[in-house]
Amino acid sequence: MHNKRRHIDKTAKHKSARGVRLSEENPIKIQKNISKQYGIFKNIRPIRSGNIIVHCMDGMQLKQLMKATQLGEWQVKCSKPQSLLSSQGCIYNVPQEYSEEDIKYALNEYWVTKATRLTYYDKQQAKRVPSRTIKLFFSIPQMPTSVCIGFLKYRVKHFVPKPIQCYNCQQFGHVATNCKRDKACVKCSLRHEGQCNTDTAVCVNCKGPHQANSKDCPKRVEKQKALKKSKELKISVGEATKIVKGEDTKTCVAEKELNMQHISKTKTHKKPILG
Ligand SMILES: [Zn+2]
Ligand SMILES: [Zn+2]
Ligand SMILES: [Zn+2]
Repeated sequence: MHNKRRHIDKTAKHKSARGVRLSEENPIKIQKNISKQYGIFKNIRPIRSGNIIVHCMDGMQLKQLMKATQLGEWQVKCSKPQSLLSSQGCIYNVPQEYSEEDIKYALNEYWVTKATRLTYYDKQQAKRVPSRTIKLFFSIPQMPTSVCIGFLKYRVKHFVPKPIQCYNCQQFGHVATNCKRDKACVKCSLRHEGQCNTDTAVCVNCKGPHQANSKDCPKRVEKQKALKKSKELKISVGEATKIVKGEDTKTCVAEKELNMQHISKTKTHKKPILG
């Protein structure tokens, strides 16, 4: 059972690497096609792999949609979302002499498929150096609360990535190469080229008296909290943000979601549009 799941995951990655992306198709068309065959559903959202996540109304609809192979003119394949198949956690204070391979070997019984020692930037050495934190990749959705390496027990905490911040517009959630917004100075929040000549910092995101990349910016703190919530509850960052902001108290656990992948397009002979 376990191996089968991993196999599905691998093929999903392989297919999306070929560049067939459902997330780039017309979302209204996708919506119509799903509704027509499977009824009204909650929502759809694109994910980075190019697949889309479909949030179903109930378990019955999810079951039906999981079997879908044809959606209008698209051939699709549905699987459980990655977040429901695997999990990532961190353990701390792990001696430097333990290699990543040794740790993975020692944690084999916990379904650990990969162990990575995180690095941090050391100012004195002016380079990134290995830390005592290990990121663990589990091939099970619910990671254990603790693991044992040798004689010691380590608490496992959710791995929460740092918020991504764009250095062009200073907003969170994308990088400058994908930025379509106007430039904003990290210090004064204004749109200008070259050196910033002002003494007073104004954050473009919260208008507070600090630089936009400040660790204390309430917007950054909020993003960080949302990322943590999204990992804990296995929901999208968007949904987690609503919860953190207090806008949404309902927790929509990803259990009613599925990952829809575009395999190929059926050739339809459309009449040429004249005129
Ligand atoms: Zn940007
Ligand atoms: Zn400036
Ligand atoms: Zn701020």
